[in-house]
Amino acid sequence: MGKSKSVRLASDNLLRKIDDLREKNIGQHIPLPQLVVVGDQSSGKSSLLESLTKIPFPRDLELCTRYATQITSRRDLEPRVNVSIIPGPNASVEHRKYLNAFHPEGLTTEGFRLQFPGILKEANARMGIRMDPSSKDGNVFSEDVLKIEICGPSEDYLTVIDVPGIFRTPTEGITTKKDIELVQSMVKDYIKDSRTIILAVLPSNVDIATQEILTLAQDYDKAGERTLGVLTKPDLVKEHSAIVAVSNLVLGKKKPLTLGYYVVRNRGSDDDDTFDHAANEEMFRQEPWSRVPKDRVGVQALKTRLSELLAQITRNEFPKLRRDVKKQLVDCRRELESLGPARQTEQEQRVFLNTLTHQFQDLVGAALNARYHNHEAFEEQEELRLITHVVNLTEMFNYDFEKKGQLRYFESPAAESSSDDKECTLDESKKESTWPDMSAMKKLAAMDQAMFLVSIERNKRPYTLNGYFNENLQRLRVKKLEEKARQEVKFLCDDPKKPYLSPNLVVDLDVVKRAKANKSSVEYAKEEIHDILSSYYEVARKRFVDNVYHQAVDHCLLTGPMSPLTVFSQEWVITLEAEQLEAIAGELPVTKGKRAALEKKIHDLETALGILKP
Ligand code: GDP
Ligand code: MG
Repeated sequence: MGKSKSVRLASDNLLRKIDDLREKNIGQHIPLPQLVVVGDQSSGKSSLLESLTKIPFPRDLELCTRYATQITSRRDLEPRVNVSIIPGPNASVEHRKYLNAFHPEGLTTEGFRLQFPGILKEANARMGIRMDPSSKDGNVFSEDVLKIEICGPSEDYLTVIDVPGIFRTPTEGITTKKDIELVQSMVKDYIKDSRTIILAVLPSNVDIATQEILTLAQDYDKAGERTLGVLTKPDLVKEHSAIVAVSNLVLGKKKPLTLGYYVVRNRGSDDDDTFDHAANEEMFRQEPWSRVPKDRVGVQALKTRLSELLAQITRNEFPKLRRDVKKQLVDCRRELESLGPARQTEQEQRVFLNTLTHQFQDLVGAALNARYHNHEAFEEQEELRLITHVVNLTEMFNYDFEKKGQLRYFESPAAESSSDDKECTLDESKKESTWPDMSAMKKLAAMDQAMFLVSIERNKRPYTLNGYFNENLQRLRVKKLEEKARQEVKFLCDDPKKPYLSPNLVVDLDVVKRAKANKSSVEYAKEEIHDILSSYYEVARKRFVDNVYHQAVDHCLLTGPMSPLTVFSQEWVITLEAEQLEAIAGELPVTKGKRAALEKKIHDLETALGILKP
């Protein structure tokens, strides 16, 4: 006795915790132990609920259940009734708000029977249920859930959910094929979870083989462990053989279920408000009903069994429930983290952008100093190795400019490459493959700077202080002289009369003199101008390429204060107005919604974990 009482108290404690979870709407995240009443239309589901809870559910066909109703009874010193609507999973934000505002006031446990029809009417209106069958406005079914909580000192912990009855054929002007599917999926959603006990309501006066619900329950409860059959309308079974068939079901001789069958007589359409269960259950004492064991007939027997079942499933599932909450919490936190830091307020957005600028500038520094090993990005995207590309391109530019940057070639002393006045054109195909897309660069200051450098070289009087010019000129002159001298020597050596002469010998000074004197003054001037120009071009070319690198490329594009690499900086972020920040760094409405939902879920799960603490 003492032991069973302590078990009962422990169960009550667990049930109270589950109930707390349900009250905090944790059921939308984690399936909670619950009883769900399912059955075909008009099988007597609402009537059974009325028998169990004393709430007068509407029972006529026109008003058959159009949405799920959750009825919770809870032990509490202060008797009270609360009614609210839990929005369906697909409800819009406005619809949610509208439903959340539904809080009927002034409800009392004594007066609830009378208040209930009015409350139902208002709830139907809030959910947008079509009230007038002749109109086309509103929905026939809703995924919103009507929630009724009854508290009192003598109430047992019991939560029963009534779902719309499944049906096979649409009713002209009222229900459609789509409604059939909607209801089927609603029922499936409720019965699929392993913590749900399926109360399959079956009218006793109809052949059980025609009741779709048993097949459906079997699909989700393969072992038949959590389906309990409730046979209604026993008073409508008149034939002896039919009663025997029903009692055979209860006795487990036909279609047995692990949890068995119960027979319950509900209030029928002919019965009024004074309907008395006990009096009507008298029939079970008479033959052939008396064959059915007493603990399997009547509302009280069923109610006691349901409380036990709920306590049992709660005890069994409790540890797993806590694990589930913890796991979901970890998942949710991870998902929230994957969304990055929140960017809703101006401050959050500025901090977010600043963090990005830091990362960006760090990356830029690494890219410009060839510190590629510091960041993975350089491994993944070769094109980010900026300074390497710039150096390569500059070398290519230098090479191309040297080879093809001029329209005419200077005469080369070695006379190896080009002839006089040879036209030079750039190899277009090479240009395409090695040069970056210039159209994009036209707008850059770097391009202006490059054009400025071109115009200076082209239009200014040629002048240089670079000593290299003189050195170059001297070298050219010496080279020319040397060449002429060699030709003279070769001429002497080739003379068959002077076989003793060899080109390796010391050169006779006369030969040098002759080499110089053999030119007309025009020719000499021409050569001199050519050499000066050639020497100057050499200096100018190198200067130009150098300037292009330092001014246009390095200063304008890479390291100068106006470089495109500096546009994304902390200074820039500081200057942004609130609207600009929102436009750039604000979150998309989808992300905002997701974040809010995740934060809410995490809060709910943390609350749940607090409640579930041993
Ligand atoms: P639901 O569509 O499954 O919710 O079925 P209802 O609870 O609305 O019941 C359909 C009809 O059957 C109603 O008129 C009820 O009064 C009637 N009914 C339900 N249970 C019993 C019962 O045990 N005996 C009698 N005579 N009628 C019942
Ligand atoms: Mg109903």
